[in-house]
Amino acid sequence: MTTDEGEDAAGPSSLEQRPLSLGEYKRYGRQMILPDFGLGGQLRLKQAKVLIVGAGGLGCPALQYLAAAGVGHITIVDADVVETSNLARQILHTDSRVGMPKAQSAATAARQLNPHINVVPLCESLSADNAQALVGAHDVVLDCTDNVLTRYLISDAAVLCGKQVVSGAAQGFSGQLVVLHKKLSREGREPIARGPCYRCLYPRAPRPEDVTDCEDGGVLGGVTGLVGTMQALETVKLLARIGDAADGDDFDTDEKNISDAAPLYMTLINPLDPVPYRSVKLRPRRAATCRSCGDGDLLLAAGLSKIRDLQSEDYVSFCGLAKPSSGGQFEDQEAHISVQTLQESWQKDGATHAIVDVRPPVEFEIARLPGSHSVPYQNLRRNAPLALEKLRDSLPETTTHVALLCRRGNDSLLAQRLLSSASSEQEERQDQQQSHKDPPSSRSPIVFKNVRGGLRAWSSDVDVAFPTY
Ligand SMILES: [Zn+2]
Repeated sequence: MTTDEGEDAAGPSSLEQRPLSLGEYKRYGRQMILPDFGLGGQLRLKQAKVLIVGAGGLGCPALQYLAAAGVGHITIVDADVVETSNLARQILHTDSRVGMPKAQSAATAARQLNPHINVVPLCESLSADNAQALVGAHDVVLDCTDNVLTRYLISDAAVLCGKQVVSGAAQGFSGQLVVLHKKLSREGREPIARGPCYRCLYPRAPRPEDVTDCEDGGVLGGVTGLVGTMQALETVKLLARIGDAADGDDFDTDEKNISDAAPLYMTLINPLDPVPYRSVKLRPRRAATCRSCGDGDLLLAAGLSKIRDLQSEDYVSFCGLAKPSSGGQFEDQEAHISVQTLQESWQKDGATHAIVDVRPPVEFEIARLPGSHSVPYQNLRRNAPLALEKLRDSLPETTTHVALLCRRGNDSLLAQRLLSSASSEQEERQDQQQSHKDPPSSRSPIVFKNVRGGLRAWSSDVDVAFPTY
């Protein structure tokens, strides 16, 4: 396909200035000969600036394809370092780069893949302080994170800066892809309409206890690979302006008509499902209630304030992540024991002391302490009194102390609170029964303790031969 740029570049002399180097013509030839992509599409990629937030399971394949396709400038942001547990899915990192900042490792791999592009690693977290400046300095943002707070932050920053977000998510066996705050406009014109932002799709943040990340819930590498690759593809479409991101000819001037004529979709994938790929039509943006992309007058009428500055927003509270007060933490000290105490006294006092592992059965099967009992936290959470009753029945009558254990000491602390409170309630009921002259229970109450740091701490401080995962 002949484009303006192509005509400019064509000339009788081989010395004439060309927009690409000879190596780039050869490298990008297969995509440049695609109808509608052409030299123009390639030059748009070369001139583009893309921000990738997260150099993990999604960020790696996204960066890989964007770098290979010749996106001229890519900034990759991640504060974490490469760990061995990343390597099964975060395909740009290698054994030899374990311990290196992920952003740096990913940038190294991308430069090896394509020396014609500029890749800038930023080994820091995206925050309310830097989000707007970073997002504003790029054409498109890829949300490749796995935490809710950063997702709101990226979306809010993108709305403030008028940028589009290619948002991916993957967990377990499923994933999703959506372009947020998507432009609906003709080339060279201000967008006359926008698709929904992250707050439009999720006006309220999920409760932290309902959020499972890949570290706790697991994820299959191919799933992150699929979603990350789809993110790269969507980004190429937006930048090169092909497919549904092409310049429209028939757009009306009315936002509703545009949304009806060109509805936006979220793609859902689940390779275990008989229909592994599905598209769900998105509702239009919430013009009257979205504090991020809503219309000022409508928000005002609804008594809502529009977000105009990220630093004034309390993202931590919005996401329900406020830390407990120091007083609360102090009171909780009694609830814990260390892995050393577990080793020194608990294991040697089997007649009265028991170890209960609250991880899911699939993790209990991977590795466990000898003699520990499995009571998954999910069962405890559903019905703590019933779980307590079953636990009592399964332990020797002489048991007076139970150490609760999980992978990192988080779920086991929640289990400690649930079981302690269920146990207190049971004691109260027994007291009432006694006052009614019923025969008292022969069993003594059980003291529940959380093993601080869980099996991770056990592996690092007590038994290095115990597998971590
Ligand atoms: Zn919105």
